[in-house]
Amino acid sequence: MFVSSFYQNVEILQSDLLMPFSSVVHGFSTRKGGVSTKPFDSLNLGMNSGDTPENIEANRQIFCSALEFPAVSLAHANQIHSGNVAVVDRPVSVKDADALITNTPGVFLNVKTADCVPILLFEPEQKVVAAVYAGWKGIVNRIIENTIDTMIVRFRCEPSRMLAVIGPSIRSCCYEIRLDVADQFSESEVIRRNRKLFLDAKKAVYNRLENTGILPKNIDDCECCTMCEPKRFYSYRRDGVQSGRMMAVIGMRK
Ligand SMILES: [Zn+2]
Repeated sequence: MFVSSFYQNVEILQSDLLMPFSSVVHGFSTRKGGVSTKPFDSLNLGMNSGDTPENIEANRQIFCSALEFPAVSLAHANQIHSGNVAVVDRPVSVKDADALITNTPGVFLNVKTADCVPILLFEPEQKVVAAVYAGWKGIVNRIIENTIDTMIVRFRCEPSRMLAVIGPSIRSCCYEIRLDVADQFSESEVIRRNRKLFLDAKKAVYNRLENTGILPKNIDDCECCTMCEPKRFYSYRRDGVQSGRMMAVIGMRK
């Protein structure tokens, strides 16, 4: 189950799957609580969004201080809709990757989204965290399977112990797709409505998480559609190039 909390004006969504672990910091930002003005109002965290660098930097500071870690501890990936995974041990900026993994306390992983699915993973025994950016292309390129495989191979993580939380993203109510995209997903992941095709990306994510061995009880979803809630979330589908970005972050305190 997800919980919405306000730190001053900053709304942060968190899963009760991860909240019992006092060393783990995690959260999904919303639009609320930042300094950006229209159309990026207000907590825009996306570097390539057309907003001013000053506003974005101020928003980063606001979001990170709400979660009580320093913004300089953030590790980034540039997000290219690939299946590429990077293991990091410092707060670096990684090229050509869509998922980050670390077992280093004090390194906070993030992905930025405005419709695509942000997924945060934690393996409590080996103390490993991951942040995954999963749009339809990333899902097809096996970003979810590759992240979990890397956690297993590099850190001896056990899928049956892993916890997975899914943040705000565009849902099957709004996610219309072309036939050539639909063809890359199973029948059960595509919904037909009024002669149109819609992707159930949440189901596609669940299917892949479960196929890797993550238990259904260890998966949590915020059940929020970015396109349906303009006051709360950015949506690239809805707002186009004038869309800001939300951030999903996970890390472990030192
Ligand atoms: Zn919707």
